[in-house]
Order: sequence, then C-alpha cells, then structure tokens
Amino acid sequence: MLIVKKFGGTSVGDKDRIMNVAKRCAEEYQKGNNVVVVLSAMGKTTDLLLKQAREIHPKAPKRELDMLLTTGEQTSVALMAIALDSMGIPAISLNAFQVAMNTTSVYGNARLKKIDKERIQHELNSRKIVIVTGFQGVNKYGDYTTLGRGGSDTTAVALAAALHADACEIYTDVDGVFTADPRIVKNARKLKEITYDEMLDLATCGAGVLHNRSVEMAKKYGVPLVVRSSLNDHEGTIVKEVTNVEKMLISGVALDDHAARISVMGLKDEPGIAFKLFNTLAKNNINVDIILQSIGRESERTKDISFTVNEEDVETAVSLIEENKERITLKSVTSNCDIAKVSIVGAGMTSNPGVAAKMFEALFNMGININMISTSEIRITVLVKRSDGEKAVNAIHDAFFGETD
Ligand code: ASP
Ligand code: MG
Repeated sequence: MLIVKKFGGTSVGDKDRIMNVAKRCAEEYQKGNNVVVVLSAMGKTTDLLLKQAREIHPKAPKRELDMLLTTGEQTSVALMAIALDSMGIPAISLNAFQVAMNTTSVYGNARLKKIDKERIQHELNSRKIVIVTGFQGVNKYGDYTTLGRGGSDTTAVALAAALHADACEIYTDVDGVFTADPRIVKNARKLKEITYDEMLDLATCGAGVLHNRSVEMAKKYGVPLVVRSSLNDHEGTIVKEVTNVEKMLISGVALDDHAARISVMGLKDEPGIAFKLFNTLAKNNINVDIILQSIGRESERTKDISFTVNEEDVETAVSLIEENKERITLKSVTSNCDIAKVSIVGAGMTSNPGVAAKMFEALFNMGININMISTSEIRITVLVKRSDGEKAVNAIHDAFFGETD
C-alpha cells in the first residue's frame, strides 16, 4: 500500500513532536507500506517569517515572500529525515524543485499544474520514506511559489492523486472535522464522515481544518481523505463523495473573521458594469466572495454592488476600483473590515424547509443584526459585526445541535 500522510505545523512544532511523527511514520513503514510524508512549517514559523518581512517592508515583493516562506517547510522536512535516520529508518527529504512540483506563476497563490513522479517513485522503490515540503511549488521562471496559507493539505492531496495512493491522511492537532471550531463552541461534535461538497463549503467559509483547494482536488480525483489527530489514535473524520450516517440537518457552522466588505455605489445600471468591476479585480488575483447587487434606481439609472474579499486584499481592491472609477462608472467606493461571515453547511438543507428561518431565529434571539445574506444549495452565509461573530456561531450551533450543558 502507498500512504500519503500530511502533518500540520503544530504536529511538528518542536523536537518531541517531530520524534512522535517520525515514530508514526516508521510504524507505517515497518508494516511494509510505502510512505510519503508531507509537512508544514514548524509551529508558527510561517507567521513569524511573514512578520519579519513586514517589519522590514510592509509591501514586500511577493516573489521574495515566497522565497522566504519556503524555508519553513524546508526546515521541517530536513529535520524529519534526520529524525527518521536517528531511528535507523531510510528516509529522504525533497523540496518542490527536487520533486518538481510545477505550479502556475502567481506568487503567494499558485496552483499546482503537474507533479513529476519519477524522483519520488525512485526513492520509494529503494524503500525510503519520502518527505516532501508542503505548500511550495516551482513556476515556469524557475522560482519558488507558494499555494496560499494552509496549502500543505493541497500538496498532500495532489501527491496522493498523482501517485494513486491508497490513502491520504491529514494529521492535525484536533481529532477531526467538528460541527464548529471546538475552540469557539464548547460542545462541538466530531463528525464521523462528511461529503466533499460540505467540506468544501465549510473550508471555504472559514473552517481552518482543511485548505479548500485540497478538498476540491480530492473530489476531482476521488481521493478519500481522513482528517485525524497526530497526538492520539482516535478514528478521525472521513471526507468522501457520499456519506451514510443518519442525515443531520446541517453538518457544521463556520466562522470567517478575516473578511472585509466593499460597497461600490452609483454604478451605471446597464449591461457590462458588473463584468468590468469584477474583471478588474480578477485580473489582479483578488478573490471575491458574497456579492449583493441592489435593485437599480429608476430615476438615476444607477445601482450599488457590495461584496466581500479577504481583509488582506481590501486596500488593493479599493485602490484598483478608485483608479478605474471612470471606466467602471461609479460614484464612490467604501470598505468595512468590522464584519464576520458566519455560515451553516449541510446537504440536509436541500430537503428540509425552515433551515434558514432556524438560523435567523437564533441570531434574532441574541439580538444580532444581519448585514448580508447569501445562499447556495447546501450553504447559508450571513454577514454580521465582527464582535458578534463568535456569539453568532454559538447561538446557531446551539439551535441546531442542542445547548451546551
Ligand atoms: N506553512 C504554511 C502556512 O502556515 C502552509 C501550511 O501550513 O499548510 O500557511
Ligand atoms: Mg492547515
């Protein structure tokens, strides 16, 4: 069997944790399995590196940021290979160049395009554990790129797909996927199983447990994922196409408190305006989330559009819109970072009326005002004040899963 195991930052946070992971990988190897290990940077390394860069230059060139951030993963894979060697287990660490993890050229948010399998295959054939840097890639200019924060999950799934692995296990510091972040909601429950679609929506809406693109890729290539703890032997959560557990109304509540709202006022009410606005942002790699367009003002023939972006992109987005004011035809643009996105996700809501009402009632009971609402077939998202975010998640979780005792 070929098993891909991915360990997050906290799982390799210090010497003891590294030895613990090495032991787990060695056990798998000793069963006769082929093992590919994908690692994140140790602990909060990536945050620290970013902080160092910002202290020198708040708008550091993205290429150089990637050059810097890739050192984090390079450190952890080398230490893991050293740890395995100390246990007498043959192992080799490889970075994105050595594997050749080819990506698109966008620094800081690259997408994997093609993974060369030869080197990994060769090392596996000579019975080594292969340890690969997560999160990083190489672009056509021969530079390092990174896949976006949390991107090591995507490296792991991509490797599992490319190598036709028998299992892809994502090890983290919690026991699996929960009905809400257990740090925010005390009685959050661990899910036994969840579908790719539900997991994708939860991950996109702020559940930090998996990188959303890793779920997208797992679905595309049919890679079943297991999310479990590196610190115990509990079963974890299986992410797959169809789940058989008793249908719950919703699978989880997610909070994203890194969003910002941009409102563009006085746009001409004519065809092509939304295209111009969002194309300007897309060309600059700014991801847009919830979009709300007002009904046009008959008298002035204008309309307003509000949407959310990641708060890191808000300044760039606003200045881009300002710069293109005439071309996009708008009167003014404002932004607001005092917002949180709260979402519920669940395949059960398609066939059960009243799910939205139940969510809104929970917010009403807490006196929380809703700023914007957006829905998909299996998701409802509301925008609330940032300071209300955690309260909202708890209230909604209580409404659907029962109150904390
Ligand atoms: N080290 C990177 C980050 O902190 C990638 C990852 O952990 O998946 O975002
Ligand atoms: Mg992660």
